[in-house]
Amino acid sequence: MAPRLRLQPEAVGLGMTSQRVRDRLVERLREGAANGGGIVDENVLNAVRTVPRHLFVDEALASRAYEDTALPIGHGQTISQPWVVARMTEVVMAAQPGRVLEIGTGSGYQAAILAALGLEVYTVERIGELLRQARKRFRALGMNVRSRHDDGRVGWPEHAPYDAILVTAAAPALVEALIEQLGVGGVLVAPVGGASSQSLLRLVKRADGGVDEDVLGPVVFVPLLAGTLD
Ligand code: SAH
Repeated sequence: MAPRLRLQPEAVGLGMTSQRVRDRLVERLREGAANGGGIVDENVLNAVRTVPRHLFVDEALASRAYEDTALPIGHGQTISQPWVVARMTEVVMAAQPGRVLEIGTGSGYQAAILAALGLEVYTVERIGELLRQARKRFRALGMNVRSRHDDGRVGWPEHAPYDAILVTAAAPALVEALIEQLGVGGVLVAPVGGASSQSLLRLVKRADGGVDEDVLGPVVFVPLLAGTLD
C-alpha cells in the first residue's frame, strides 16, 4: 500500500495565510472599515490580494496577518492596518503617479504594495534593523524598491520631484521639506497630530506652487521621530 501523503495545511491552501483568507481581507476592505469607507480601486485591492502580508510580520504573528489590524514589528513600531494602507494607496493612485516616496519603511509592506502596482518606489526608514529586514523581504519577493537609512523628515532630495509622497508616521504638522520635493500636481498623504488624535491629510501641489489641502479622516500612527537608530 502506498504511504498516505500528509500535506501541511499550507500546502493545500487551508492555512491561516491561504489565498482564501487573503480574499476575505479584500472583501472586508471593499466593504469599508469602522473608521472609513470601502476601497474601490480594483488595482489596489488586487495588490492587497497579491502581496503576502504574512511575510512582513514575525512568524509568530503570521496567522493574524490577514486581519484588518495593525500588528507589532518590534522596536515599538507597527505594520499599518491594511485598510489604512489601501486607503493611502488609493489616494496616491488617483494622481496617476510614476515615482513615489514613502517615509517610514517599517516592515516594508506599504512599499511592497506600491511596487506591486508598478510604481518606482523610494522609501526612507530611521531604524536600521527594521530597514535591513524590509530589504530582505524586497529581495525575497524580487521587488525593486530603493531604500535609505535616514531621518525621513529631510525627504530624499536626490530623486525629487515625486508624483506622490506617503508619510506613515504622525507629526504635529506637515513637513515643509517633503512638500518642496513634490512635483506639480503631486499628492502628499500624511497623518498629522499627536498621540491621541490624528487626521489623515491630503495635500495637492498646484502649478502656482501653492497647495490644496483636505482632511480624509481619523487615523492612528506611531510618531515621526527625529534622528536615526542602528
Ligand atoms: N509603512 C510601514 C509602517 C511602519 S510604522 C509599514 O508598511 O510597515 C512607521 C515607521 O516610520 C516606523 O518603522 C518608524 O521607525 C518610522 N519612522 C518614524 N519616524 C521616522 C523618520 N523621521 N524617518 C524615517 N522613518 C521614520
